[in-house]
Amino acid sequence: MRERSDKLLGQARSLMPGGVSSPVRSFDAVGSDPFFVERGDGALLFDVDGNEYVDYVQSWGALLFGHADPAIVQAIAETAARGTSFGTPSELEVELARLVNAMVPGAERVRFVSSGTEAAMTAVRVARGATGRPKLLKFAGCYHGHLDALLARAGSGVATLGIPGSPGVTPGTTADTIVVPYNDSDAVAAAISEHGDDLAAILVEPVAANMGLVLPAEGFLQSLRTHARECGALLIFDEVITGFRLAAGGAQERFGVAADVVLLGKVLGGGMPAAALAGPADLLEHLAPAGDVYQAGTLSGNPVAMAAGITALGRIQTDPTLYDRLQANGRELARGLLDAADAAEVPLTATALGGLAGFFFAEKPVTNYDGAVASDGAAYASFFRGMLERGVYLPPSRFEALFMSTAHSSEHIAGTVAAAGKSLAALPRLR
Ligand code: PLP
Repeated sequence: MRERSDKLLGQARSLMPGGVSSPVRSFDAVGSDPFFVERGDGALLFDVDGNEYVDYVQSWGALLFGHADPAIVQAIAETAARGTSFGTPSELEVELARLVNAMVPGAERVRFVSSGTEAAMTAVRVARGATGRPKLLKFAGCYHGHLDALLARAGSGVATLGIPGSPGVTPGTTADTIVVPYNDSDAVAAAISEHGDDLAAILVEPVAANMGLVLPAEGFLQSLRTHARECGALLIFDEVITGFRLAAGGAQERFGVAADVVLLGKVLGGGMPAAALAGPADLLEHLAPAGDVYQAGTLSGNPVAMAAGITALGRIQTDPTLYDRLQANGRELARGLLDAADAAEVPLTATALGGLAGFFFAEKPVTNYDGAVASDGAAYASFFRGMLERGVYLPPSRFEALFMSTAHSSEHIAGTVAAAGKSLAALPRLR
């Protein structure tokens, strides 16, 4: 029963394009309509009709400690009581920058912005400004926000909507963007031998989480490091999702590969709008006012967002088993889904790493965007709807990852696996 949600959706559609503030929230990709949230608590969401869901979206990864974490809510309330935005420097920015500097490898300087899109946009400008080169190398199915230059074969909502780029993005804007398949070192080598001298940056999600969850092949990230160094391009790790979710130092720490610039967001803001780019001083100091690469933001370094981020990162620093627990839970979920699929004789692959999990309706492991597209979208949509009816909220698109939080317990996972067993058994025979 979602009577009130349906009514609100009707009103929203008459006021907002598609009734939502961001496309994937519409549930279009899974042939359903969204529920409207009344509140969240830990691993759970409650909708306006009183339905309860175990939430594996967690605000698209922004929440590492679940909804309405008391310490984060308290930090937000106390900070907001002193003012919500000043447009001048505050001590909170220094404190959060110090935490980023201590936790993220190579983060000598940090520029705070308000969204991952802005972080990527700024990093592209810095890379081009610092190298004097125009071209960018990105990977099909990797999403770096909705900046024009990188909306070429992007994942996430663009993949969901099946839009190769987007109307409104001119060929000129993406003319300097080269796209190659993820996990394909040969394609990278070929692109570099053709464009290496013009390449400002290689941008990559070190673990791809916007085409479903796709792990880097052994040696892939290291090969990007080597290629970038050899051709004089910067290696930009987009850790908007993986930062503080795979390890305190993100994918750089997890895979032992150093990037030149790191993009951060989501967990960085503890559920409030904050993002950043970080890297060595000589590079980041190209940014105004230290240098001449322009970038600015009215709400950048917002005190309330900084306070939430400080609380989240402080918690990470003082919890040495956090990532082991997240990963153990993710693996338990992945294993449970595999067993349930086996029992239902449905082809499924599943994996988990740090605070990320993912699965595809596919016969063999998915290693790139084409593989993700070839997975069974109709099965995913049907499974999503079955799980929602059973009180489990999965990402409303097969091109997204599942996000674990410290609030997810073994009981939540056992309940999810039980629901999966029933939902898989009820799948129409699509193949
Ligand atoms: N980069 C990655 C890897 C992301 O997953 C996202 C958003 O999901 C972004 C960048 C863009 O961040 P935002 O939505 O905050 O603009």
